[in-house]
Amino acid sequence: MTRLQTSLLLLVAVIGPLAPASAQARYLVPDRIERATVVDDDGLHQWAEWPEPKCASCKGTGKAPCQTCARFAKDAKVCPECKRAEKLLAPCRACAGSGKIADPLQRVPCAGCMGAGFLLCTVCGGGARLRVGSAKRWSVCPACRGTGGFPCAGCNGERWMPALAIKPSLAEAPFDKLLKAEKDLDKAIQAFAAFTPAGGAKTRKSVKELGKAYGYLKKYSPGFKALPKCTKNYMSKILAGAQFQGHEENEANTLGRLKSNAEYYLRHQKRMLELAKKRADLNIRASGK
Ligand SMILES: [Zn+2]
Ligand SMILES: [Zn+2]
Ligand SMILES: [Zn+2]
Ligand SMILES: [Zn+2]
Repeated sequence: MTRLQTSLLLLVAVIGPLAPASAQARYLVPDRIERATVVDDDGLHQWAEWPEPKCASCKGTGKAPCQTCARFAKDAKVCPECKRAEKLLAPCRACAGSGKIADPLQRVPCAGCMGAGFLLCTVCGGGARLRVGSAKRWSVCPACRGTGGFPCAGCNGERWMPALAIKPSLAEAPFDKLLKAEKDLDKAIQAFAAFTPAGGAKTRKSVKELGKAYGYLKKYSPGFKALPKCTKNYMSKILAGAQFQGHEENEANTLGRLKSNAEYYLRHQKRMLELAKKRADLNIRASGK
């Protein structure tokens, strides 16, 4: 083994095991989202007021143990998520730090970062430093150059994305517009399902395929419109880790994370479209048109 080839093996030992399951954010399960309606004086079904339930993940505090730091050595200095804040608490990913679950007819965890607010540097795991080969000293991560992460253009750091833009809104759109949006959403769902992330020499091709999949929703979402370029830049930085052993797998896994983050958004919106269609259909019957 050459010096460089040993580096990733050492790195794994340094950053330690994955965060325990209890530290992972708990998001709404798309298929189980319910959204009540009430019948108004004209016999039409209107959305009931959203009760803004307390976030189950952070129990309403808006803070959670930092998932990025959970894997760091104790003397870590940089963290793109909590900035090494006191007690290593970061804004909760499931509720974007608000402590409450926002109306799912309006907000969804970001399809790029899933509520983290940034894209993790997977070459260094966010710690911004590496120990290369048998070196005793840390060196700056060649991918993120000391930041541990990259901006997420899906949400511009807001951690959430709006629901699909269907006129006048996903909640109030008429049945035919919801149906048309659902057909486009289904195309995106199929494109993501067919996308098999690959690393190494296939990374660039894989990134292109991912960009195409995001593209199916670009007219419904500024976030999806921005993600192809953003993830292309992101993956070009991650490729700076191509000197390390195991990089192919890391690249594929990084793309796999992007895929599953986007798929959560798609499943969420599929469910909300189903509920909105159901309401719109009831109203067609109620108004006798
Ligand atoms: Zn929360
Ligand atoms: Zn942290
Ligand atoms: Zn984001
Ligand atoms: Zn890095």
